[in-house]
Amino acid sequence: MNHATPNLATPNLTTPGLATLERWLTGPRFAGLPARGTGHPAPALSFEFFPPRTEALETQLWSCIRRLEPLRPRFVSVTYGAGGSTQARTHATVARMVGETSLVPAAHLTCVGATREEVDDVARGYWAAGVRHIVALRGDAAPGTTYAPHPGGYAYAADLVAGLRRVADFEISVAAYPETHPAAASAEDDLDSLKRKLDAGATRAITQYFFDSGVFLRFLDRCLAAGITAPVVPGIMPVSNFAQAARFSAMCGTTVPDWLGHLFEGLDNDPETRRMVGAFQAAELVRLLQANGIDEFHFYTLNRPDLTYAIAHILGVRAAA
Ligand SMILES: Cc1cc2nc3c(=O)[nH]c(=O)nc-3n(C[C@H](O)[C@H](O)[C@H](O)COP(=O)(O)OP(=O)(O)OC[C@H]3O[C@@H](n4cnc5c(N)ncnc54)[C@H](O)[C@@H]3O)c2cc1C
Repeated sequence: MNHATPNLATPNLTTPGLATLERWLTGPRFAGLPARGTGHPAPALSFEFFPPRTEALETQLWSCIRRLEPLRPRFVSVTYGAGGSTQARTHATVARMVGETSLVPAAHLTCVGATREEVDDVARGYWAAGVRHIVALRGDAAPGTTYAPHPGGYAYAADLVAGLRRVADFEISVAAYPETHPAAASAEDDLDSLKRKLDAGATRAITQYFFDSGVFLRFLDRCLAAGITAPVVPGIMPVSNFAQAARFSAMCGTTVPDWLGHLFEGLDNDPETRRMVGAFQAAELVRLLQANGIDEFHFYTLNRPDLTYAIAHILGVRAAA
């Protein structure tokens, strides 16, 4: 069949009387979203969990891990509670992953409020437990206080990365902020800080979550312009509880676009529809990124597998047989 080539020139949409059909026939064409077999192999994934506080949450976490394990993520990471408050639980979770799963665990480690020796000891403990990947972070000051480095500690994440490299041959990931870290002096300073972390020996940056694909893609452009060549992996947080996500976003500096609020409007007492809307929104975000060549994603699972599993499926990832 011989299809006429569409006219790719941008139409003048203000032309009076330009009908929908004419706009469609003469208007700009979007590239199709990626489909299987069109040069978009399934992306590499990683999943983030938090260490459980109770037995019930432990059961929930492990059922989440078992559900996502067949998707063969590149690695899975376990967070470190504020100021190291989950040190033992983070360790127990990653050690169990090493012993009981086929997963490659990455332990988060922060340096706030601790001496270098204390932090190095925790890192040695991870190494002894068979953990070879660390997500190295500064961490935050207690609520209502301003961050100040511990006198005998690593001041910033870049210093921690350098310290970890002296402890053992860890693979190290660090944090990046497409909308700039809330306490950074400027966006440029924050990008310099990311570069220092990578120059100190980290091999990948994982971003704070964001809701607008343009925010991430513009950040990637800035990273490239600054000479960053390490992978910058988008952090994706599927939303099922909008109110909670909005509260959390205000704390970590993620912009919540108006359209996101509209999507969840009227659904406060309808968790089922909220979940479907959340899956739609996150799927659209990752597919747009995938259409722009992004082939690695980090999911903030909040220890719930359903949305992450569905979105991974939409991205073309299939469970191991
Ligand atoms: C993927 C990811 C995972 C996370 N996991 C955890 C977790 O498990 N536990 C937890 O408690 N928190 C976690 N956080 C939150 C993180 O600890 C906070 O965002 C923290 O405020 C900054 O940590 P950082 O490693 O990015 O710090 P840094 O890279 O050290 O940067 C912190 C701030 O200091 C500035 N800065 C850097 N170097 C210098 C310097 N030399 N002089 C002056 N300013 C400087 C930076 O621009 C930035 O504003 C995570 C964040 C992300 C994105």
